Amino acid sequence: MKLALASLLFGSATAFTTTGNHAAVSSTALNARKPFISGNWKLNPQSKDEALTLAKNIASSITDSSPDSDVALFVPYVFIESAMGAVDSKLSVGAEGVCPQINGAYTGAISTAMLKSIGVQWALAGHSERREIFGETDDYINAQCLKIIDEGMAVMLCIGESLAEFEQDLAGSVCAVQLKKGLKGIRKEDLNRVAIAYEPVWAIGTGKVATPEIAQDVHATCRAILADIYDQEAADDVRILYGGSVTPESVDDLMRQPDIDGALVGGASLDSEKFGRIINFQD
Ligand code: PEP
Repeated sequence: MKLALASLLFGSATAFTTTGNHAAVSSTALNARKPFISGNWKLNPQSKDEALTLAKNIASSITDSSPDSDVALFVPYVFIESAMGAVDSKLSVGAEGVCPQINGAYTGAISTAMLKSIGVQWALAGHSERREIFGETDDYINAQCLKIIDEGMAVMLCIGESLAEFEQDLAGSVCAVQLKKGLKGIRKEDLNRVAIAYEPVWAIGTGKVATPEIAQDVHATCRAILADIYDQEAADDVRILYGGSVTPESVDDLMRQPDIDGALVGGASLDSEKFGRIINFQD
């Protein structure tokens, strides 16, 4: 657990914990950012049977000797309920996105109410593939975040710069814009239901993982941006995960960085052995 200096100064703080698919907000004596390992299955796998087997095998890698972390899988809507049944209370199963509208003429959309009705707590917003391929704008992503929070769910907001932006040393500026726009209107007291995933676009699905030093540097910048938007205490509470080609080989060094609180894993979360090793990171 990463202990935040602010908690030592300010006393108790709240932490978001999950019990199976039922998330809860609990008080902790010290502000501790519990590690959070999550998988993003994207448009995979291709059948319910495969999804069930994968979910079960991933759940079986969580043992009594695993790190005390939150673990979540973000899976295609059609697999959510069966994956929940397959993993018991070992991890939570979240949605890869939501529609900001609650009902009406939005063909193909899935609402927070629908997700809540089957026990879903977590949803992704702002993934770079949604931004790039599906044209989701910062305003739309902000509407998703607000709806998720208003409905009592929890959001993992993904942010990150493109390769061109990275090469121009714009990672911090891009993250600042995406954080400020994505979190607009979200109150400090609701941040215990927000996690940030810093995912440099150039590292997603490319096999090019950011070095622990680069990732730590941007994570520290993101935390400073959160302090600017809210305050230092809030910034010290929010979990910031790294995403981008995380593997069993890279996870330990990433998790040793002071401002990296977890991982959002795409490709390797489709391989239960690899993702199991990531869940059982060593820091
Ligand atoms: C992702 O899709 O969020 C991701 C990080 O993918 P990958 O691990 O495959 O780079």
